[in-house]
Amino acid sequence: MKFQERITQIAEELLSAENPGKVATYIPELGKVDPNKFGVHLTTLGDTHYYYGHSCEKFSIQSVAKVFGLALAYRELGESIWTRVGVEPSGASFSSIVQLETNEGIPRNPLINAGAIVICDILISIFENPKQALLDFIHSASGNPAITYNSVIVASEKETSYTNSALVNLMKSFGNIHNAIDEVMDVYIHLCAIEMTCKELSRAFIFLAAHGKNPCTQEQIITASQSKRILAIMQLCGFYDEAGEFAFRVGLPGKSGVGGGIIAILPNQYSIALWSPKLNKKGNSYIGMQFLERFTTETDTSIF
Ligand code: GLN
Repeated sequence: MKFQERITQIAEELLSAENPGKVATYIPELGKVDPNKFGVHLTTLGDTHYYYGHSCEKFSIQSVAKVFGLALAYRELGESIWTRVGVEPSGASFSSIVQLETNEGIPRNPLINAGAIVICDILISIFENPKQALLDFIHSASGNPAITYNSVIVASEKETSYTNSALVNLMKSFGNIHNAIDEVMDVYIHLCAIEMTCKELSRAFIFLAAHGKNPCTQEQIITASQSKRILAIMQLCGFYDEAGEFAFRVGLPGKSGVGGGIIAILPNQYSIALWSPKLNKKGNSYIGMQFLERFTTETDTSIF
């Protein structure tokens, strides 16, 4: 498989075309990023690496990190997690509040903001230091103990998190938030403010291509069943109201973030991370979507 050739050619073609996307500015600090950054890194199960561009530069992974939070909470709590959060696609934007009232404070899935906030509440109930537990999880998945939060992004999101505050308050009123609202918001905003490179991201997510096992250390990070179920949720919910489009065009389970990052997994083969900060109207990386559509088509590596 000529992965490197494809990556280089597709990247160069897309980067020379117009990009009508827009960098997210509702978290002011995110708006300061260079919009022309582009990185991609593919890690295979056999630990072969293919990459292009700014793949070793750190960026704010934002909602991509929701998958780490979910994996950790699922590992600790098992199936009872699904009494607090659903597994259905929302068909709505990532911060939508409309379904929460009719669903009586139970978020549709763990990858929309409301669902990830419940996951953070669960982590607070389990761990004495949930922020450290999250980092420990990522350190062991990635093999890199230096990955951490960006405190400037944390402060910036705290100043403008009105919608997320509305979500957590509504869920608290329904009894689906067990800890103090400020603490839950603090953990959620930290989770979103993790900084990683494409190389680190693709390496950290390879366990989802390997039935929950870290292929380098052989550590079983989560069970094979949990890994399968997380991939199913990523496939159906990872791109919010564009999840259908992502399945239709790319055909891999994946997750996006408003920092312009995307992770996508081909079970038994590879994980690929991309970063391009300009977003389409649904809040997903404009070039990231296009790149993956072409890459999976031209290398015939979709799951479908
Ligand atoms: N921190 C962001 C928020 O809560 C994450 C959203 C995203 O990446 N889609 O709004």
